[in-house]
Amino acid sequence: MKKLVIASNNPGKLREFQFLLQPLGIEVLTQAQLGIAEAEEPHVTFIENALAKARHVSRLSGLPALADDSGICVTALGGAPGVQSARYAGDNPKSDQRNNEKLLQDMQGVADRRAHYYCVLVLLHHADDPQPLIAEGEWHGEIAHEERGEGGFGYDPLFWLPELGKMSAELSRDEKHAISHRGKAMKVLLHKLQSGNGA
Ligand code: IMP
Repeated sequence: MKKLVIASNNPGKLREFQFLLQPLGIEVLTQAQLGIAEAEEPHVTFIENALAKARHVSRLSGLPALADDSGICVTALGGAPGVQSARYAGDNPKSDQRNNEKLLQDMQGVADRRAHYYCVLVLLHHADDPQPLIAEGEWHGEIAHEERGEGGFGYDPLFWLPELGKMSAELSRDEKHAISHRGKAMKVLLHKLQSGNGA
């Protein structure tokens, strides 16, 4: 594989993927560079949405494509916000602040605070690839009772890590990447690519 298109327009994710794939000598393009519009994400599972995004970009570019999907799943809420994480409090416009407020409200009086972040990466060698490369990562913690910390994004000011005694919004970028759902999934993907498993 010489070239790969990242099926995302999120600048933070693009930087991470470019950094990750650099040692493999793969030229990384973005879907925006190729003028490809974002795909719909209509599904109820992360894997289906990631596959839909990768297939859309691979089909339109004629190149291998890498997509991810991620979110936070709260045990007491049956896995919600789940695939709706980005738009939990509505999408007009999407707002991390309102999402966090809604989550705190939904968790009022709930004793079981367990939650985890989940990330899945999907690499399709071509649009009809029957054997996509799939890498997953989970990061377990708890939903706090109030927000704290300035780092990260999304639900990080509410994601409490009991072993560290910190919110994920209180970790540095490198600290977070070393243990996060996305960091773990990326390590798995890199390992699979380096070992020739699917490259
Ligand atoms: P997507 O993978 O870009 O669709 O993002 C899904 C949503 O999940 C984000 O908008 C956040 O609300 C949430 N999310 C995913 N990963 C993280 C994280 O590392 N920290 C905080 N929120 C996250």
